[in-house]
Amino acid sequence: MQETEKNQNVGYSSNITEEVFDKTRDNRKSRDEITYIITVVAAVTVTLLVGIFRYQDLKGTLFFIGIIAVVGVIFFFILKQKKQPDITYDGVVKFIEKSVETYRNKGKYLVTYIAITREDGKIFVYNNIVSSVHNDYTTYYQIGDKVRHHKGYFLPEKYDKTQDDKVVCILCGHLIDKEKDYCSNCQKVLLK
Ligand SMILES: [Zn+2]
Repeated sequence: MQETEKNQNVGYSSNITEEVFDKTRDNRKSRDEITYIITVVAAVTVTLLVGIFRYQDLKGTLFFIGIIAVVGVIFFFILKQKKQPDITYDGVVKFIEKSVETYRNKGKYLVTYIAITREDGKIFVYNNIVSSVHNDYTTYYQIGDKVRHHKGYFLPEKYDKTQDDKVVCILCGHLIDKEKDYCSNCQKVLLK
């Protein structure tokens, strides 16, 4: 009985194929780009309105809009290049470190940094993961752990979950008791 229990927690969960995961993943990806497009459109609209109604200078306004458009497109590609390409990959925890920060002299929270060595040798970094003191990832991920990063999520899934009494929700980052099937914070299916 104990053995069966254990074996169920070795290997990556098939729950990632659940529809709820696909939905959240798609939303997360497009949200960044939509925010950017809205910002550029807002900048163009404001320039157009101010130019026409305040300065009554259509030519000058169009010139500025041209500049905004060019700068906007350039930044769009720079940001895309700088961003780590987000793909699903397997790797090993290379480094993990947390710092305890204080919020306005009252509550404490954690900021964690995790580096993963991917199978292709590249390093992938989870930077500035903010969490409550109850979600201490240094108690969950250990150096050398085999992990899988799932495209669109901000925490990796552990391959071997047998030694843990918690499971991480890769969507919201809460550490949840392993007996649970759903995250008590965001209600999503847990990868276990
Ligand atoms: Zn959650």
